[in-house]
Amino acid sequence: MSTPPTIACFTLGPFETNSYVVTPGIPSPGEPCWIVDPSFEPLPLITHVRGQGLKPVAIVLTHAHVDHIAGVAEVRAAFPGVPILIHSNEQDWLADPLLNLSAMMGQSVTAPLAERHLAESDQLALGGTTWRVLHTPGHSPGSISLIHDPSHQAIVGDALFAGSIGRTDFPGSDHDTLINAIRTKLYTLPDTTAIHPGHGPSSTIGREKKTNPFVRA
Ligand SMILES: [Zn+2]
Ligand SMILES: [Zn+2]
Repeated sequence: MSTPPTIACFTLGPFETNSYVVTPGIPSPGEPCWIVDPSFEPLPLITHVRGQGLKPVAIVLTHAHVDHIAGVAEVRAAFPGVPILIHSNEQDWLADPLLNLSAMMGQSVTAPLAERHLAESDQLALGGTTWRVLHTPGHSPGSISLIHDPSHQAIVGDALFAGSIGRTDFPGSDHDTLINAIRTKLYTLPDTTAIHPGHGPSSTIGREKKTNPFVRA
């Protein structure tokens, strides 16, 4: 198999959100990259992208909670014109501090409107790689996971964590919907699939199916 995509993790901000820089292979100057979920104070991520000479081609958002979008404006200022991609269910959340929960923290965080609205089964190209969009709602109505089938890698946002699952006590959350998305979509990926969640360490689908106290296979 060719070199798998590289998923570099930057844990940013007061909620220790995992922001990711994804490249189609080993990062090298001129390679395209995605910036996924840029959180508060994204300068280390921006510095990394610049230092490696990468060319951001999209800002992809797993969902629009404040800790996953707080760095979008700064990243877009650093890389003007890079399109923002988000599931259609949360397209309005970027400009609405009540919906993106920043108002709850006494802040008013907004992000530029998205250029592209995603849906289940969309195929996203990054360099020579193709990623699949899985709609994995429940933590929020427009939560998505990004799946690279050939290398068994998944970026899962706040749907599934190592040993835990996303909170469902927010407005728009739904516990049963989340459990269903994990069981019917994420847990049907191969056991060796590495998951890169929105918070905390990576894991694999196989490990979570066996040990996750919230959703066993
Ligand atoms: Zn969230
Ligand atoms: Zn989060």
